[in-house]
Amino acid sequence: MQWLLGGYAYYPGASSSVDGAVIAYNLFNYNNPVTAHELGHGFNLRHTFEGDGGNTVCPANSSCTTQGDLCCDTPPTNKMIAAQQTLVQALAFG
Ligand SMILES: [Zn+2]
Repeated sequence: MQWLLGGYAYYPGASSSVDGAVIAYNLFNYNNPVTAHELGHGFNLRHTFEGDGGNTVCPANSSCTTQGDLCCDTPPTNKMIAAQQTLVQALAFG
């Protein structure tokens, strides 16, 4: 289960009693990325900061198939850097 500012979701394979995504009602709209973020987890998309030890280390970057978000087009990062990237994108796109 992963949290981001008003929502959470389980990765595929979770128990049927918890499978799905929960979005705060006031964030469920096209101006907020929480829904896309949480539904991404439902499609097995991970954070780029997976493996950062709770933002204490830089995740290993020796195999994109087992580290970070498991997608080879995005390098692993720690949570602080990921948050800064999200803020920069939010400021750039309003
Ligand atoms: Zn998340």
